[in-house]
Amino acid sequence: MSIDLDIVTSQRLELSHLICAPITETRVEAFLISIRGAERIADAIELRFDYLPAESLPQLIAELSSQVAHVSKPLILTFRPREQGGKRNLSLQDRRDFWRGLPREIVNSIAYADFEFDLAESFANERPPMPWEKVICSWHDFTETPHDLIARYELMAVTPAAVVKIATQANRISDCLRVFELIEHSNGKKPVIALAMGLPGLMTRVLSPARGAMLTFGSLRRGAESAAGQPTVAELRDLYRVKQLARASEVFGVIGNPVGHSRSPLMHNAALKALNRDGVYLPFEVDDLGSFVCGFVHPKTGKLDWNLRGLSVTIPHKLAIIQYLDFVDATAVSVGAVNTVVVEGDELHGYNTDVAGAMKPLDEMIDARGARVAVIGAGGSARAICYGLSRRGADVTIYARDLKNAQPLADEFSARTASLESFKGEADVVINCAPIGMSGHSEGRSLIKAESLEGVKLVYDLIYTPEETALLGDAKRAGCRTLGGLAMLVGQAAEQFRLWTGLEAPVDVMWQAARGDWL
Ligand code: NAP
Repeated sequence: MSIDLDIVTSQRLELSHLICAPITETRVEAFLISIRGAERIADAIELRFDYLPAESLPQLIAELSSQVAHVSKPLILTFRPREQGGKRNLSLQDRRDFWRGLPREIVNSIAYADFEFDLAESFANERPPMPWEKVICSWHDFTETPHDLIARYELMAVTPAAVVKIATQANRISDCLRVFELIEHSNGKKPVIALAMGLPGLMTRVLSPARGAMLTFGSLRRGAESAAGQPTVAELRDLYRVKQLARASEVFGVIGNPVGHSRSPLMHNAALKALNRDGVYLPFEVDDLGSFVCGFVHPKTGKLDWNLRGLSVTIPHKLAIIQYLDFVDATAVSVGAVNTVVVEGDELHGYNTDVAGAMKPLDEMIDARGARVAVIGAGGSARAICYGLSRRGADVTIYARDLKNAQPLADEFSARTASLESFKGEADVVINCAPIGMSGHSEGRSLIKAESLEGVKLVYDLIYTPEETALLGDAKRAGCRTLGGLAMLVGQAAEQFRLWTGLEAPVDVMWQAARGDWL
């Protein structure tokens, strides 16, 4: 088939801040319906022809030939072999034949064709099936992010393709640095699409467009991802606000492992959006704390030029982070844990907002001075609670399964210890600081017998999923007032937001987001 190479498509992509949705359906009808869906929410659409089984491909090509000119968003066509991340076993010859046999209607209407590097090289010295200004030359590494990405880019940039795409696997968050260096290197040269796959690579998917990459990929829905760690279009657009981000935008985030379940990105991004603040909050899956702090966070050693303003810190880094800080406030020292880092000039300052977050809602319900308080559990959150209670002069007993573990905590904050089984209701307030009752862990269970809650005035459960735990249900039936863990979750986040921005947090918006009633 002869292709008119002089036709210049009307679908050229404006090279910035694009969210591209891959179509990964495996049936023709669903594929075509998905294109309509993607038109509504994405800036560009990648047609992953390799997701279709061989026998369905002719039908897709025929149907698309008559419809493609009417698609309102720029199209990228991809036909990837399995060893390069595609779904089909395709030899180089299979791919050459596919591109050579593509109908003129499709060739003329698509904005870009994605040629794997070997395919692009194979066409380099002959008449290509596609004008080179419509070709993205791509290369994928699904095992790692190699050190020689810039050399790889230069090699690919020698092909006549208009754009270079490099996607690699992030095995640790520090791999993202090499992807950002590549984008930096490409600025002013051949446009690049560069990203790191997997959750540790998420920041490249969100921040790359603002740093000069041509586009980022977002799936149409959960389960329709074309690569690991790909957020949805809705998350990129509405949660991370990728299209509004600039290089100088403020960046915040939570460091921990795991962080995928964290509600902090929901709460803080909702707050930033509500206040129209030019910033974004990201989950950072961090294994090696030292190299992340030195390479990305500390202003004196950081290698990434970005406007990082602050971090939430969660398990397992709340203690270990302290060694990297220039200042730790008195509450965090007493609790022995930092959950908030603020970038102050060229220093890192550490705070603990768990205490304020936990105690504020409690203070609103009772006067803890002299109150008999039963703290269940002796871990990290019990520590923050015991510190807050000791400052208020409460009479605290720590109920734990292992009294040897609990004793040092009790000694530090002038509390008593007792076994869990010995609790018979001799308290004004019960605070559960153990994970029993959590969704996906031990939902429906409680460490406290329902009958021992008679006479207790207030029951506070730090667990926030589910919102109403078995313990809180028992407490309500026993006539106690109750307080759930969302109050602490939102309270500690609101305090972090104030430390980072100097602004009062929009607490109602954060509540809604923490409940999942946002997006
Ligand atoms: P942690 O440091 O691991 O401490 C958990 C405590 O619970 C430990 O003392 C542990 O006892 C005890 N425990 C665990 N399983 C037990 C069982 N089967 N029977 C008796 N005791 C048991 O955890 P954490 O950070 O304090 O968190 C505890 C809970 O609080 C979690 O559900 C978490 O989601 C919730 N939390 C909520 C917020 C919020 O913002 N609402 C903040 C922080 C934590 P051993 O010492 O004997 O292992």
